[in-house]
Parts: sequence; structure tokens; C-alpha cells
Amino acid sequence: MKAKPVVQGLYMVPLGGVNAFLLDAPEGLVLIDAGFPGKADAILAAMADLGRAPGHLRHIVLTHAHRDHIGSLAALVRATGAETWMHRLDAPIAERGAGFRPLKPAPNFLLRLLFHMLIRSDVKVEPATIDHLIEDGDVIPLAGGLRAVHAPGHCAGQVALLWQARGVLFAADVCTHLAGLTDPIGFEDQEEGRRSQRKLAGLDFTVACFGHGKAITHDAARRCRAKWPAVPA
Ligand SMILES: [Zn+2]
Ligand SMILES: [Zn+2]
Repeated sequence: MKAKPVVQGLYMVPLGGVNAFLLDAPEGLVLIDAGFPGKADAILAAMADLGRAPGHLRHIVLTHAHRDHIGSLAALVRATGAETWMHRLDAPIAERGAGFRPLKPAPNFLLRLLFHMLIRSDVKVEPATIDHLIEDGDVIPLAGGLRAVHAPGHCAGQVALLWQARGVLFAADVCTHLAGLTDPIGFEDQEEGRRSQRKLAGLDFTVACFGHGKAITHDAARRCRAKWPAVPA
């Protein structure tokens, strides 16, 4: 499994339908999201590809408690001893490995098809301890600062992460970039999800990374604003 460079110090790790990201920080490697269950070895292989041992992974930041983002969290913590960070509304789901909230499919035929292939709220994953709870506006003191932007609608405890030092937004599943920039496959609350899309479009960034789909490496905020006219912060 190859780690794909996005910008200096940032690598995308494609994990079969969902992405995780590795940030090369002074305090060690930081992982954003942890893939479906059974993907720990693929993430460790991507680290090995960068010349890093499991112990080099020091922190794991989870954008939200869906199975495709927290599935391998417990296995990764076991393998690396990394500390974990998550919004307080979603942390209890990761800590129980259950209690996923139901989603309604997005209003788009293709996304709806994917939704019925991928989404089940009755699933369980291996529980994992969350060491640090995140709130909206917190600047997580990793990689020079990752600002948490609470972005509910797809998932109540979802956060996007703004890496201001590098002009990178990790948009999580607020939107996807599969066949163009569009919705996630489902929403807990679609109106809330739209507000979160406009909120992210109002931020200042050049590069956008998504839970699903390719990264946008130039002019990403403008492209998001063209799709979702921003509301003033
Ligand atoms: Zn999700
Ligand atoms: Zn996802």
C-alpha cells in the first residue's frame, strides 16, 4: 500500500473506498481517520513505505464515528500506542463500537445506490478509548495546529480539520469528491449538512482532502464556494 503525497508533509492513504491521511509532524506521525475494519495492516504498510515503524504513529484524529473511519482504530492503537482525538458527540460511539446513528440517503441517484451498498447502522466495530475530546474551534496542538470545525449533518459529531500552516482543509464526509464535488452518500439531517457545506466553503484554504474521492490541490476553497455559496462566519 502506497502513501500518495498531496503536499509536503501530507500523504493520502487510499483504503478501498475511503481515505486516511498521514501528516509528517515534528512530534511524530499524525493519522487522520482509520478506515474500515481490517485496514490496520494497510495503514502500517503505508507508514513503512515512508520508512516509519508502527511506534512513529503518535496521534490519531477521527473526523466522525462511521464504520469506514473508525473501523481499524482499536487495532491501530494496539499496534502503535497512539493517542486518540475525537469530537465529544461521536466519542461515545467509538468507545462502545456501536450505536451508529441512522442516515437517510442523499438526494442523488448514484449516491443513493452507493448508500444502499455501504450503509448499515446495526453494525459493530471493535471499541477504542478516546483520549482527547474535541470541541468546535479547538486548535489541536499537532502538526503546528489543526483547527477543528464542527460540521454536523452527515454525522452529529463530525469535524473538519483546517491545517492553516499548509492551507489544507480535511473536509471529512461533509462533501465527497468522487465524480465531482458533491454530497456525502447520506445525511442524518440534510439541512444541517447544507449549513456545514457552506460553513466550510467560507474558510480559507488552497487544498482540500476528502474521506471519499481525490484531493483538490489548487484553488479548492473557490471550487467549494462555487458549489456551496459561503455564509459569513
Ligand atoms: Zn461518514
Ligand atoms: Zn465515510
